[in-house]
Amino acid sequence: MSELSELKFTQEPESQAAVSFRLYIPGPVEVSEETLKAMGTPMIGHRSPEFVELYQSIQPDLQKLFYTQDPVYISTSSAWGLMEGALRNVVKEGVLNCMSGAFSDKWFDVSKRCGKKAKALQYDWGTAIKPEDIRRELETGEFDAITLIHNETSTGTMNPLEEIMQVLRDFPDVISIIDTVSSFTVLPIEKDRLGIDVILTGSQKALALPPGMALLSVSQKALDRAAQLPDRGYYFDFHEFQKNHEKGMTPSTPTISHIYALKQQLATINAEGLENRYKRHRELNTIVRNWVKERGLSLFPETGYEAVSLCCVSNENGKLDIPAMNKYLRENCNAQMDQGYGKIKGKTFRINNMGNETEATIREYLDMLDKAIEATQGGDS
Ligand SMILES: *Cc1c(COP(=O)(O)O)cnc(C)c1O
Repeated sequence: MSELSELKFTQEPESQAAVSFRLYIPGPVEVSEETLKAMGTPMIGHRSPEFVELYQSIQPDLQKLFYTQDPVYISTSSAWGLMEGALRNVVKEGVLNCMSGAFSDKWFDVSKRCGKKAKALQYDWGTAIKPEDIRRELETGEFDAITLIHNETSTGTMNPLEEIMQVLRDFPDVISIIDTVSSFTVLPIEKDRLGIDVILTGSQKALALPPGMALLSVSQKALDRAAQLPDRGYYFDFHEFQKNHEKGMTPSTPTISHIYALKQQLATINAEGLENRYKRHRELNTIVRNWVKERGLSLFPETGYEAVSLCCVSNENGKLDIPAMNKYLRENCNAQMDQGYGKIKGKTFRINNMGNETEATIREYLDMLDKAIEATQGGDS
């Protein structure tokens, strides 16, 4: 029913302009004009020398961003494709799913749907995963893989990756699968130094590309494990990725438009400089955190584990009328705000500072939020 009405809506030409809201949500994030232009590059054959050149030309930059000597594979899927595919490639005995938000909770469900023996290491939403709990679970010897979301986008919580990887060093038979969808290139995540076996990210969050592509890099250990699993399928088979990578290609026809956009975005990242990029994200995040404090609001996550790529603001006392704020921003500012995710929708809202945001765009958005709060609160603040 709602599908039908949406269809009708987009078919009315007069309403087209009103449909393009400026996105302030933590994914998909706003995409630059340059990226959209790169997406429009004419097609090439995916088995042509031109494609091989394109594919190979971005490898060094991708390896630099992942801090790895291993290849970086390109997947034509959203991150979930790789999140599911990774389980099918490496979980032989059992997987420990670290859970503290919408995406990490879902990963446990996906493990079971893939027929894997899975255990939920469950925390309250917004609580960080505790390395010592992981140690205790792994000591049972029941697990040969673990899933961890580095930055739980639904709650704005960043898990202590360094400490968790330290624990995993004592369990060399456990393959680590780390989701960095909303932290990749926001801060350094050093795959090889940390000993991460499988690292993956998506296109539409920290990388500020349109949705539909995901990246992954896997260790030799993960490839060796995959070789032992006969039912790992085809589309996300690590060995298919590797075999084709050696020829400068992908297993199936890839989203070539995204690869052009990725190349453009890599050039933008290089021009800014990685350290400057990290610094920008930290500074923008600080601006938002200060705004939150100054407005008498608080952050949702456990103190000390707040994300750097977004702020998840608590509205547990119901002080803010978030649906009304959203309506105000859409009608008056042409802006799309976030209203919270999953079971904390309305109890929280999130402010994104990933991707191409700048001090000017963040301050502009905070001003809009101030206006929205003022307009929707009546006399009571
Ligand atoms: C958005 C998100 C995903 C899922 O990405 P899709 O593109 O919808 O597959 C997974 N993990 C995290 C941390 C995310 O933020």
